[in-house]
Amino acid sequence: MSQNWRCPNCGYFSTLTKENLLMSDGFINSRSKHGALKVRITSMNCPNDECRGLTVDMHIAGVKSVGHVGPSGGSSTTEINMEDVRWHKRLLPEARVMPLPASVPDEIRITYEEAVLISEISGRAAAAMARRCLQGIVRNFFNIPQEKRGNLGAELSFVKDRIDPDLWEDIQTLRSVGDIGAHMDKNVDQIIDVSPQEARSLIELIETLFAEWYAAKEKRAKNKEALQQIFREKRQAQKDAKEAGKSTVEGIEE
Ligand SMILES: [Zn+2]
Repeated sequence: MSQNWRCPNCGYFSTLTKENLLMSDGFINSRSKHGALKVRITSMNCPNDECRGLTVDMHIAGVKSVGHVGPSGGSSTTEINMEDVRWHKRLLPEARVMPLPASVPDEIRITYEEAVLISEISGRAAAAMARRCLQGIVRNFFNIPQEKRGNLGAELSFVKDRIDPDLWEDIQTLRSVGDIGAHMDKNVDQIIDVSPQEARSLIELIETLFAEWYAAKEKRAKNKEALQQIFREKRQAQKDAKEAGKSTVEGIEE
């Protein structure tokens, strides 16, 4: 079984296989009010040579029995039931702040880092920060003119045709969940919680925007510069060859 995975240390995309993924299940005291539980420690090493970072996740979940027929007849054992995860915590890396492309403005960078840091404590606060980060990104990346600025929904509609439809849908989700976190005061009698895991998904979308918009743009600019350089060199070589040809011809004429 392989699955797509993005290293939280370096942002590198890769595929998790048994080469870089290890899962280990253990027992947990079962006499609490939570009943029978097991813990799964999942550790992953990044295949990117420049990173080789370690990521460790811990899941505490209920158990399910699995029938087993041995040589001495049938017996039953239990295994962790990942459809019944009660707690999940990322143990490593501790602060999951990804290194950002250099062209991301400081204001956006700080908001992103705050969203990451607060996500373990308050999903709603993190969702609100992620939403603020999204607004900063949209304004900055698409250079929304001052007179069009105001409400995030309107700013997004203004650039809709420049956004990938898949991303567009995710962005709308982030905006809606972020609104729940940002407008807490309007709904004092109606608390809608955002779990740290849900907040993490919103933050991952922000990280995707950094990668797909800022980093990709930087890469295109770099590539364009390299192509221009090649072009200048070729044109110079052509010019030199022409000059050389001319002098040879002139040489013959002499
Ligand atoms: Zn990595």
